[in-house]
Amino acid sequence: MQITIIGTGYVGLGAGVCLAHLGHQVACLDIDKNKIAKLKKGVPTIHEERLPELLKKGIRQGRLKFTASYNEAIENAEVVFFAVGTPMRSDGSADLQYLEAAAVETAKRLKKYTVLVNKSTVPVGTGKKVREIVEKYYRGKFDIVSNPEFQREGTAINDFLKPDRIVVGFEKERVPAKQIIKTLYKKIKAPMLLTNIESAEMIKYAANAFLATKISFINEIANICDNNEANIDDVAQGMGMDKRIGSSFLKAGIGYGGSCFPKDVSALYKIAGANGYWFRLIEAVININKYQREKAIQKITKLLAGSIKDKNIAVLGLSFKAGTDDTRESPSIEIIKELLKKGAKIKAYDPQGIKNAKHILGNSIQYAHSSYTAARAADLLFIATEWPEFENLDLKKLKRSMRAYNIVDGRNLLNVNKTKKEGFEYLGMGR
Ligand code: NAD
Repeated sequence: MQITIIGTGYVGLGAGVCLAHLGHQVACLDIDKNKIAKLKKGVPTIHEERLPELLKKGIRQGRLKFTASYNEAIENAEVVFFAVGTPMRSDGSADLQYLEAAAVETAKRLKKYTVLVNKSTVPVGTGKKVREIVEKYYRGKFDIVSNPEFQREGTAINDFLKPDRIVVGFEKERVPAKQIIKTLYKKIKAPMLLTNIESAEMIKYAANAFLATKISFINEIANICDNNEANIDDVAQGMGMDKRIGSSFLKAGIGYGGSCFPKDVSALYKIAGANGYWFRLIEAVININKYQREKAIQKITKLLAGSIKDKNIAVLGLSFKAGTDDTRESPSIEIIKELLKKGAKIKAYDPQGIKNAKHILGNSIQYAHSSYTAARAADLLFIATEWPEFENLDLKKLKRSMRAYNIVDGRNLLNVNKTKKEGFEYLGMGR
């Protein structure tokens, strides 16, 4: 099948290499010419497991192409996926300008029946808007489909090829698009939920908001544990052993971040408002998430005896979670910005996120090549991202580097007893 993907970012690139791997002919389009130039040479533009290998394979087998030209990308396409960003506007709602622009450019070039699939996360009703846009420029037949993406950065390839489910929303009961989409995904063994476009659009927001709710819930429980003898690790484990609850997304910490949860949760709150409904629960989820950043700063202040000014703080982790170089809405970066305002001197290390963090933080902080160089002369070490390598820090080696032995573990990675026994003042989140 001839597929075009518009927007070659985290989702578009992941989907592109996977669809080529499944045997389709895929053209990935992006307006970012630098990105396209790199990808043409087989150079990955993001850090993602299995991506380098599938990218090279797709190019070598002639199944995967990259282009910055709409003419070239749309010419032969049977199915066009929109995978452009839908970032948060300053009022919290979803910004659809990139999707609208992509729809216009695509519509202008349509010459035959094409299935237009929206993979970007968009508010309920966007499918209809895209139809209206396309109809302004193209009078032929086409179908609009909603196919939200559930991949997680860090495991995106695996998530795409082995998803829990594929959700597809159609405009009407009997449209040619239904068979085309089923054929497109036939090699993926996963249940396919077929529904209308609006429900598919809502499923994505509802799923992300529910996961964010789980995170804020366990963070609230951790905050209560901070004030008594209960230990959040055991509490979360005991809760998660109940199959009705499940153990995922029950890790207490400094709150969720990234390019999806904050914007999607906020957009859902706005969608509810626009539909005349005050979504009280999600409002609380957002506020709790903001509070977790404050909570981390309170703990850092406490271990530094009330004053952050001129203290050296080593921050381990800049990406919003482990396994990715993505630093968008990273809790680590939000906390660093607050610490800088309070006069701290920051030296940070991240296995993958430094390049992206530099775009945001510039030279307001120093960057280190390892945890131990970040910790050199530090008054406190703050763990902000759950990279596995931070779990196994050599505490003796850290001690030789640091000026004072304070650790705030924002991800509950270290063994509490071992760390305290080594002579560190230690504060985790609810333990
Ligand atoms: P991204 O910012 O990494 O990539 C978007 C790409 O679109 C960029 O490369 C940009 O240059 C390109 N672009 C913008 N306007 C364009 C246009 N008019 N024509 C062609 N290309 C254009 O974004 P992302 O993280 O891949 O997210 C894309 C969508 O998928 C969003 O709606 C997001 O919410 C959703 N989503 C993301 C994830 C994730 O893990 N990142 C997971 C599920 C869903």
